[in-house]
Amino acid sequence: MDEIIKHFGSRVKTDISFKELTTLQIGGPAKYFLKVQTEKELLEIVKIAAKGNIPYLIVASGSNLLVSDQGFDGLVIQNSISAIEKDDNSITVKSGTPLQDLVNFTLEQGFPGLQKLTGIPGTVGGAVYGNAGAYGQTISDYLTEVSCFDGSQKITKTRENCHFTYRESAFKQSKLIILDIKFTLPKGSRELLQSEAEKTLELRLKKYKPGIKCPGSFFKNVLTENLSAETKNLLPPYKDTFGKIPAWLFLEGVGGKGASLGKIKIADFHANLFINQGDGTAADFWQLAWEYSEKVKEKYQVQLEPEVQLINLPPLS
Ligand SMILES: Cc1cc2nc3c(=O)[nH]c(=O)nc-3n(C[C@H](O)[C@H](O)[C@H](O)COP(=O)(O)OP(=O)(O)OC[C@H]3O[C@@H](n4cnc5c(N)ncnc54)[C@H](O)[C@@H]3O)c2cc1C
Repeated sequence: MDEIIKHFGSRVKTDISFKELTTLQIGGPAKYFLKVQTEKELLEIVKIAAKGNIPYLIVASGSNLLVSDQGFDGLVIQNSISAIEKDDNSITVKSGTPLQDLVNFTLEQGFPGLQKLTGIPGTVGGAVYGNAGAYGQTISDYLTEVSCFDGSQKITKTRENCHFTYRESAFKQSKLIILDIKFTLPKGSRELLQSEAEKTLELRLKKYKPGIKCPGSFFKNVLTENLSAETKNLLPPYKDTFGKIPAWLFLEGVGGKGASLGKIKIADFHANLFINQGDGTAADFWQLAWEYSEKVKEKYQVQLEPEVQLINLPPLS
């Protein structure tokens, strides 16, 4: 760490709590913490950390993280490198750009394709990592390439090489750091896009009240094609949404709605929404999620998978 501290001085903080770094407001300390604002800084710090075998973790807005109460015993690098550039109908975005800034930009320009991502917290890099999406749109729909850093050099991945599937990407299986993301978008009507974005936001606000302490939906929805006929028969009448059965339907079927442990509560109105009601712990969150995923497995023979990234915690299955 000496070299990092020599390089970045007092900007390197110690013992910053993940309560301050995540929307869930849970988690122990980051032993070392640095916020980077330029690509040069990001590449420098990652190179030094990699050379010195210092464990490091890239975070952005922390809206998809459940971090253990022990925190992270290494260096947490927060990416806030933000910029949007347009060339004709192509847009190149720095990974730390807030996703909403990109969505707003496309609305102003009249580029359809991202309007239904309105209201999703986080950065564009975080969205690409987890192939974030909502209401039938995903961040990868019009993405053409991603430039990233492998710890020693910059590489460019085409869309095909990013292996995007439902809430998955090649980035989840690698240590690649996403730097710039390029989209090529069609042209549409600004008025129509604006009205779709407003309707989307109205729908979202019913589920996510302002200030809610959560990491979004906890479990991934289940691909309908992966379900056996027996499981389908056990479910109440349901609507397949974009080829998926919502995870809440399974969790509701095992009495998840309103269940709680310590200060963690599953919403009364949505069984896939785990909320920190105050000073909740990661241990209680994990335990509650595990108990209900086990109940789902027993009743439906379905293994729910977390959509949220677990840091320094055991897997749920
Ligand atoms: C209220 C609420 C509503 C939500 N609604 C939705 C929704 O509708 N749809 C949806 O898909 N998600 C939703 N989410 C989840 C979350 O907003 C998204 O997953 C978001 O894209 C995460 O971005 P972030 O910047 O916060 O990433 P973080 O939470 O900071 O990080 C998430 C993961 O991405 C990795 N990562 C971040 N940046 C980089 C980078 N530059 N390079 C490499 N890896 C990186 C991190 O290491 C981590 O593993 C919601 C969350 C909340 C709190």
